[in-house]
Amino acid sequence: MSSPILLGAIADDLTGATDLALMLARNGMKTIQHIGVPAEGSDFGDAEAVVVALKSRTIAADDAVAMALASALALRAAGAEQILFKYCSTFDSTDKGNIGPVAEALMDLLEAPIAVACPAFPAAGRSVYQGHLFVGASLLSDSPMRDHPLTPMRDANLVRVLQKQTASRVGLIPLDIVEAGPDAIRALLIKARQAGFRLMIADAVRDADLRQLGAALAGARLITGGSGIAMGLPDNFRAAGKIGTLEVAGRMTAPKGKAVILAGSCSVATRGQVAAAIGAGLPALRLVPADIVSGKQSIADIANWVLANSGKGPSLVYSSDEPEAVRQIQQKLGAAAAGQLIEQMLGNLAVILRDNGFARFIVAGGETSGAVVAALGITALEIGPEIAPGVPWTRSRGEPDLALALKSGNFGAPDFFLTAWDMLDD
Ligand code: ADP
Repeated sequence: MSSPILLGAIADDLTGATDLALMLARNGMKTIQHIGVPAEGSDFGDAEAVVVALKSRTIAADDAVAMALASALALRAAGAEQILFKYCSTFDSTDKGNIGPVAEALMDLLEAPIAVACPAFPAAGRSVYQGHLFVGASLLSDSPMRDHPLTPMRDANLVRVLQKQTASRVGLIPLDIVEAGPDAIRALLIKARQAGFRLMIADAVRDADLRQLGAALAGARLITGGSGIAMGLPDNFRAAGKIGTLEVAGRMTAPKGKAVILAGSCSVATRGQVAAAIGAGLPALRLVPADIVSGKQSIADIANWVLANSGKGPSLVYSSDEPEAVRQIQQKLGAAAAGQLIEQMLGNLAVILRDNGFARFIVAGGETSGAVVAALGITALEIGPEIAPGVPWTRSRGEPDLALALKSGNFGAPDFFLTAWDMLDD
């Protein structure tokens, strides 16, 4: 019989879930990542926090809501006192959702009168000021996110972006209030609630701001945001004497087996990592969507290529391409179909490789990682050492036993594909 959990989180994609699980583990909570909606009565062992990884960012809003509600019920049944809805630090969503609809439905379920929405993650360059999201020094709308294949972000004003997704009134907690501390934040939330606001974008430009927000949100039934918003939450449970302290190891014991990198992200950071890996001489094979459609590039050919190269250390299979090329193929196939084509190919490839002795995988791309992990039949991950901000090594629980680094497209330094392996022990 497992002990009750304290914090239950629902993430709208897999790498986002991993990023959040790492944040909670680094701040001292025993954390497990569960893939997909947990069955009611799931055994989470001695976990204090459970992060449910959905693949709901770009599906129909009704479906995303249904999955989030089912997850919240399972997490509450497992004891969760607080629910965190986690989305991307670049607020990836479309005008149809899913951040607004899911947040609203969770508020109704949990009877939360008001909820904060804060995607800031300063360590990865995401900050929110005057309700505007910055990626590094650029507004979100001037960042490469404007060309994302599935969720192009062309407005940096998050109050406006979120307002388009919900009938609830959206307001702002400005930076001066956040800096003034938990009492000021709570006072503003009470006033906002009285004025009819239900969702509040929160400014945060430094970790200290996220910790103030975290402290202010002790006891809140629902919190929404990026992994940064979770930074201060473990301290609340610690202050209440509910958790102890926990060190995250710097290395991880990995199952023996061959290694491969699967990159289905077209984000700038991943394209840089692909270029660096090719530059360093890693065997690399590019997936070409048009050739997959025409049958010129088949799963058997790709798998045989990886197997033929597997004696030389990790090889790289990538579909990462420039925005213009992505636009062209999307015009031909449709954005969703083009995405699925690649996701399916990489998922099927991962299964063939697993069956041929591969046990160590780096996967680049949130949607891509979701597809690969689903194809591999993985249901839960334990969180290992941090490779880069927001990206840990993980090890699957149960069968198949694999080491996985699931990287959100925009995360990690250029040498990520080359150096991440050094943290693994046999
Ligand atoms: P990120 O984490 O960078 O957002 P994702 O994997 O979440 O990466 O999203 C990238 C999407 O783009 C996936 O659906 C993927 O299948 C799709 N994709 C990858 N390569 C191409 C390509 N060359 N052309 C069109 N779509 C692509």
